[in-house]
Amino acid sequence: MMDLHIEEETYMKYYIGIDLGGTNIVAGVVNESYEILAKASVKTNLPRPEEEIAADMAKVSQEAAEKAGLTMADIEWIGVGTPGVANSATGVIEYSNNLGFNNTPMVKYLETALGKPTFIENDANAAAYGEYVAGAAKGAKNAVCITLGTGVGAGIVIDGKIYSGSNFGGAEVGHTVISVDGPQCTCGRKGCFEVYSSATGLVRMTKEALAANPESAMKDEERISARTAFNYMRAGDATAKQVVDDYIKYLAAGITNTINIFQPDILCIGGGVCNEGDPLLVPMKEIVKKEVYTRNSAKNTEIVIAKLGNDAGIIGAAFLGNAHD
Ligand SMILES: [Zn+2]
Repeated sequence: MMDLHIEEETYMKYYIGIDLGGTNIVAGVVNESYEILAKASVKTNLPRPEEEIAADMAKVSQEAAEKAGLTMADIEWIGVGTPGVANSATGVIEYSNNLGFNNTPMVKYLETALGKPTFIENDANAAAYGEYVAGAAKGAKNAVCITLGTGVGAGIVIDGKIYSGSNFGGAEVGHTVISVDGPQCTCGRKGCFEVYSSATGLVRMTKEALAANPESAMKDEERISARTAFNYMRAGDATAKQVVDDYIKYLAAGITNTINIFQPDILCIGGGVCNEGDPLLVPMKEIVKKEVYTRNSAKNTEIVIAKLGNDAGIIGAAFLGNAHD
């Protein structure tokens, strides 16, 4: 038995996943059991030339490997999750409004600096893949993961592979329209899923409801946040309850649309608002169950809460070498 154990350790494989964000660059060493062994990070410090950012990504990768007691020789490959359109076939970040990148040859930079095969993917896709391999969507054949944050991000995994469309800009579930005459979205359209179901959307709807109902107890709140409406609903405020009901109605519509298109085994949702738990989830699932096209089928999509939080992006990025054909 002892010998077997040593053999397992000898053959343990290690990967590095990098979460390239607008604020921080985080690299993590992940083993083949999906455990993050060490992390290193540096501020992204935008705006900066792409070469400098790539050099910092290589530096934090080496730091993370050292912290894990490894060298680059022990690492199988590097994966990067980045905002924007990442062409996983050419290794070029074609466009990232957030980072100020245009046709940035990220794979070339990192392969030159670290001498390891490198893969890139959009950050929402990488996070979805993390949940798929090691989190809430583990064991699914097909999964969609939606994150309710500043925007509504999504990643789609079909038969174990990330699906990002023929031009790598797919999976933008957040920019599907729920109401054609709805509020303006940052993407240029009106009434997108994101306009209603992001944390930003919830704050907007809370402010609008308060402006229309100045008697609401929410007037005492110094700063309206995505938690305000839920907190005041629990305290019995009718305006707050209306905001939460509306939020749930829109969220259920976006999720039902997504299920109607993809029929995944698992649809996972993440982001701070999911911490509201049952008061959000129970009525939302109730609406989806009533409205989804396959409501009479024996088996339906399971809606679950994301498990890995910010680590999803690192773990997903670390396994990008398996995420494409
Ligand atoms: Zn939009």
